[in-house]
Amino acid sequence: DITAPVAVALDGIDLPAGAGLPRASGLPDGCFAHDGQITKRPVRAITLSTLAPRLGEMLWDIGGGSGSISVEWCLAGGSAVTIEAKPERAANIRRNAEDFGIAHRLRVVEGAAPAALADLPAPEAVFVGGGGDAALHADLWARLAPGTRLVANAVTLEGEVVLAACHGRHGGSLLRIDLAEASPLGGFRGWQSSRPVVQWSVTR
Ligand code: SAH
Repeated sequence: DITAPVAVALDGIDLPAGAGLPRASGLPDGCFAHDGQITKRPVRAITLSTLAPRLGEMLWDIGGGSGSISVEWCLAGGSAVTIEAKPERAANIRRNAEDFGIAHRLRVVEGAAPAALADLPAPEAVFVGGGGDAALHADLWARLAPGTRLVANAVTLEGEVVLAACHGRHGGSLLRIDLAEASPLGGFRGWQSSRPVVQWSVTR
């Protein structure tokens, strides 16, 4: 069993110390070194399900942030190239790869997409978690081989508009993930909504 780099406390569920890592994607955010820019657990679980990793497949994770998507892809048996523009985040990605014991299958490219994509080996799947403007998506559509799976998440209105246009042009599926969690409201409880995440997924 692979053990978690930190004690595992899922939302509302405690695992005993030394317990193996859960086998499903969507590990607790606290398992990863991050600066707040991380795809949160429930959305990450859905995103990995959409990416549909299989043994030996390669992922490009564009706008890697903490690298949590790449780490979970590699834990599922694949390899990843994580492209991240900010050096301090690239450092977190390297650290997370080491902590999870998958550094030999996760390569970090420090730079900005699409320029940083030149010369990378062709992937089976691409995730766009950052930098997904119209120009990047046009570049990807031209660059990727038919059959490549493409998944992109947006949290801003501007990003959402780009994905709606891509969906209109290329088809695939457009999913809005609207989650809320109960939290204290005075002496009672109320639903605290998360920002909606729009996810476009398509096979090139
Ligand atoms: N999925 C990540 C979070 C992504 S946050 C996780 O789970 O941790 C989006 C990231 O995209 C940020 O770290 C930002 O620095 C990066 N980014 C934005 N535009 C980029 C570009 N053009 N190329 C590479 N990285 C980019």
